[in-house]
Amino acid sequence: MHVSYGVPLAPLTTLGIGGPASSLAELHDPAEFPEFVREMRHSPTPPVCLGKGSNVLVGDRGCDLPVLRIATRGIRIMGAMDDGRVLVEVQAGHSLWELVTELIDEGLVGMEMLAGIPGTTGATPVQNVGAYGQEVSDTLRSLEVWDWKLGRRAVLDANACALGHRTSVFKKSRRWTVLSLLFALCRDELSTPVTYRSVADELDVPLGSRVPPAEAAEAVLTVRRRKGMVLDSGEPDRRSTGSVFFSPEVGDPMATKLRRLGAPVSRFPDGSTRVSASWLIRQAGFGLNAPLTHGVRISSVHYTLVADDGASAAGFREAVGIVLRQVLHRTGVLLTPEIDFIGE
Ligand SMILES: Cc1cc2nc3c(=O)[nH]c(=O)nc-3n(C[C@H](O)[C@H](O)[C@H](O)COP(=O)(O)OP(=O)(O)OC[C@H]3O[C@@H](n4cnc5c(N)ncnc54)[C@H](O)[C@@H]3O)c2cc1C
Repeated sequence: MHVSYGVPLAPLTTLGIGGPASSLAELHDPAEFPEFVREMRHSPTPPVCLGKGSNVLVGDRGCDLPVLRIATRGIRIMGAMDDGRVLVEVQAGHSLWELVTELIDEGLVGMEMLAGIPGTTGATPVQNVGAYGQEVSDTLRSLEVWDWKLGRRAVLDANACALGHRTSVFKKSRRWTVLSLLFALCRDELSTPVTYRSVADELDVPLGSRVPPAEAAEAVLTVRRRKGMVLDSGEPDRRSTGSVFFSPEVGDPMATKLRRLGAPVSRFPDGSTRVSASWLIRQAGFGLNAPLTHGVRISSVHYTLVADDGASAAGFREAVGIVLRQVLHRTGVLLTPEIDFIGE
């Protein structure tokens, strides 16, 4: 297993911001994980896990804790369950987007709307990754983890992971490192129903339609590209974490008020009613491309924060604060950051 010291973390994140890791271990082969556990025996805290760094902001002074970058790959189609769903085992470092494409090629549906989301599959339970009507919790059955508190391997049932709207037990604790995941998917020629207007319009079908999964994924990619939500190289807004804030939950009176103003207010699978964070940012008076702090601005195509040359973690945090305060002042809704902070 390869361990390096004083490694810059910025190139390992999509924001490209942040200082070095005092130590960085890279896990490519799952068989090498016990060696890493042995290395960690004197560490008082669990490691900081890193996948593709697409949802993190690393502090300018970097990270003093050991960092474990998970780069294992591979999927294995297992047998079918009694209800006909097919079990698929995925290594934690496997790219989510590649997984979605591989499942579509296998004729398995349930994750096609997640096309284009960057990052590793192992990070998906952390914030119960979701988009366009599907969430990882819809198909995730169980996870193989290393439990740093108990010092042993464990299999966690997905139902025990408190998977909610962009949250789970993993979002609040570094106790577990996800090693592999087991999904249950349906073999079908048609996708799950299209529940987002933008995707339905792209496909030119009514809401609720089911279409070939490859077409659903293509439509999702087109919609995402329009909003700069696909990391294409050469894209001016590519230094991003996607959404920086959760879509905040609102009560009925606020939901009614916001709907009257034309806000996209939706019901989510966990029963919550939420308003789009990007709509709130726009409503608060921020324009596309608006500069916020040195090297940090609003994206040129979507109401989220992106980084340019000269950006620092301190500047990014300050920009988050500026947006948060102005949105609260102008709309009365409090935003909460979705990204995870590594280091100071
Ligand atoms: C352009 C863009 C679009 C995006 N669109 C969406 C979207 O539509 N929906 C959505 O939900 N998210 C979206 N995201 C956010 C991001 O892609 C997801 O959160 C993704 O799951 C992060 O994966 P990662 O491998 O990059 O994780 P990282 O950013 O490396 O890590 C994220 C968190 O997970 C932890 N972690 C990582 N791997 C493990 C592991 N094996 N075990 C335990 N903890 C681990 C890290 O410690 C950290 O707290 C988007 C991001 C970008 C840049």
